[in-house]
Amino acid sequence: MPLIDTHTHLDFDPFDHDRQAVLDRCQAAGVERILVLGVHEANWARVWQLAEDAPAVYAALGLHPVFLQDHRPEHLDRLRDWLERLRSADKLCAIGEIGLDYYIEDPDKPRQQALLEAQLGLANEFELPVLLHVRRAHADMIATLKRYKLKRTGIAHAFSGSWEEAREYIKLGFKLGLGGAGTWPQAHRMHRVLQQLPLDSIVLETDAPDITPHSHAGERNSPEFLPDICRELAELRGVSAEELAEASYRNSCDLFGWA
Ligand SMILES: [Zn+2]
Repeated sequence: MPLIDTHTHLDFDPFDHDRQAVLDRCQAAGVERILVLGVHEANWARVWQLAEDAPAVYAALGLHPVFLQDHRPEHLDRLRDWLERLRSADKLCAIGEIGLDYYIEDPDKPRQQALLEAQLGLANEFELPVLLHVRRAHADMIATLKRYKLKRTGIAHAFSGSWEEAREYIKLGFKLGLGGAGTWPQAHRMHRVLQQLPLDSIVLETDAPDITPHSHAGERNSPEFLPDICRELAELRGVSAEELAEASYRNSCDLFGWA
């Protein structure tokens, strides 16, 4: 049951002591490819190094809305330099993590919006998909995507919105990234949305080290748990784990242009 983890932060500190062991266990568990996303200028080199060193790891680079305080105007220029330099590199697969986060205290919405739009522009310029972080901001994100008409679309990661919001992303050609959040018994709305989602709109993710699935409560989340997440979500969706694995694998490959 080969799987692709479309969203991790494997470069973060909680993996410093056992990153290679995690990658080895992922390989044994059938987690064939693992995306690691940049969040601010300071971690891009580390993310890219990981992609170069580990055969399973693929990189995305971007400026995350939650780290707004760390971003400087020149970081957008640095991002363009990186994208230019990696233009023909197979291991650079998207722009992300980018988006809108209105859940944080006192969000600077205009600055978040400007940063998002600048990076959507880069996605079109470099013909890359986008990996989106969206919290309490689906209406603004959907309106923005409708204006931008991206060449390559992308993923609304850790999706936990309504069915109506899901349908808007799907109409725009986006996939919905599902992971540990939906595996919790109290996630009733997620369960209802999951039952309505067409299989060709779903990709799987862990968001490791965050959003631990119910079956590993209290542990550090890890891409090696993706087969468990797949089994749990498949049961809620009313399909076999193999069907969900196959669909999400195919959807990821279509999105990233992997044969
Ligand atoms: Zn993330």
